[in-house]
Amino acid sequence: MKKKWIGTQIVLNNIPNSYLYKSDNLKKKLAMAKDAFDLDALIVWPDLNKKNLDLVREICTDFEIKTYLWYPILADISGFKVRPEQAVETFDGLHGYGRNSCWDKLGKGEEDFLFLCPNDEQNIRKIFNQYQNKIVESGFDGVFLDRIRFPSPSNGFETLFSCFCKSCLDKFYTDYNEDLENYRNQIATIFERLKTIDVNYLQTWHSFSDIIIRDNLKNFFDFRKQSVYQVLKMFADKAKQMGKLVGIDLFAPSLAPLVSQDYRLFAKTCDWMKPMIYGHTSSPAGLPLELYCLLKAILDINPALDEEQLIQAVSRLIGVDLPSQLNDLLKDGVSERIICGEMQKIKELNLPEKVNIYVGLEAVQVPGVCHINKSILKKYLESVIEVDIKGIILSWNLLKIPDENLKLVGDFLLKRL
Ligand SMILES: [Zn+2]
Repeated sequence: MKKKWIGTQIVLNNIPNSYLYKSDNLKKKLAMAKDAFDLDALIVWPDLNKKNLDLVREICTDFEIKTYLWYPILADISGFKVRPEQAVETFDGLHGYGRNSCWDKLGKGEEDFLFLCPNDEQNIRKIFNQYQNKIVESGFDGVFLDRIRFPSPSNGFETLFSCFCKSCLDKFYTDYNEDLENYRNQIATIFERLKTIDVNYLQTWHSFSDIIIRDNLKNFFDFRKQSVYQVLKMFADKAKQMGKLVGIDLFAPSLAPLVSQDYRLFAKTCDWMKPMIYGHTSSPAGLPLELYCLLKAILDINPALDEEQLIQAVSRLIGVDLPSQLNDLLKDGVSERIICGEMQKIKELNLPEKVNIYVGLEAVQVPGVCHINKSILKKYLESVIEVDIKGIILSWNLLKIPDENLKLVGDFLLKRL
């Protein structure tokens, strides 16, 4: 079997300089990853000064590890704080966060997940300029673009129905010759209907798109998709012009339509994609949290709906059995078999050969958010072998990946070389 391409991500801000310098901790950790499985790439969160970027680049060059600048575009941007009033506007006039079953820790951590509208040209231009400077400053081999999407269920269910800002109103009229304002009522109607849906209605869902893209909302969601794509293209094309490789961070294929990420469209702009197939993460993009928030929102809107039947309907959509109680979803997570189902969905998209898929697997231990032990990791790796994935990205912070997990990846994959 061909060696798997293996990358990992790292967040080095908020750690003492001594970690990088005196004690050589970073060097030791990378040496271990290099030794265990011949690490190919390190993706570095961009909040670092020039001196530290240089140091990381030099260490990686010595180890023959490629470096990528991890760049969030529409939320949690390096050097650009999004104010709530600047964030996307929902159909009912909220900004950034919804009220309907959003994540209880939203806005309380280091990352605030306040998303700018992809049509907010003025602010995107500012971010784009900073981004170009950072690429030059870092001298890394590539960029890894993140947060290229609309808010997810963990921002509150209403935010799936954004954006209605002035820029969107104008652009929608130009592109579709229709008044976007009319869509506010159509979405309100969908909310009204959700109040009365029953088990028969759940049978009409064949994908997550069917939950939100109802009635005449097709143009609205096409517009969102194109809007996100245009921003991605602008950032990716620039990096390519500068001779950089481009990787992108994506929601798992099942959930991607909820945040207007279109794998086929996005494949036109990048060298590789990382689907985040996180079965045990209780923070945004993690399947347990996103599914929990989505299902909780629907049950809050329609308390008469049977919880177990709703969970069954969604289990059918993602192809693995979810726990029969919503609360257990956050506790137990989603079966590691999810990797097989989600990768199958990607295969069915027939993406161009030249775009590599490197699956994003959790490998971290972060208290209260994600705890990956060897047993879980082994099951993930078994799925990786089963569906013959080209590469993996051990997510999402090398500093939080226990050494024994790194060793397991090496032992497991090398035995099968
Ligand atoms: Zn907008």
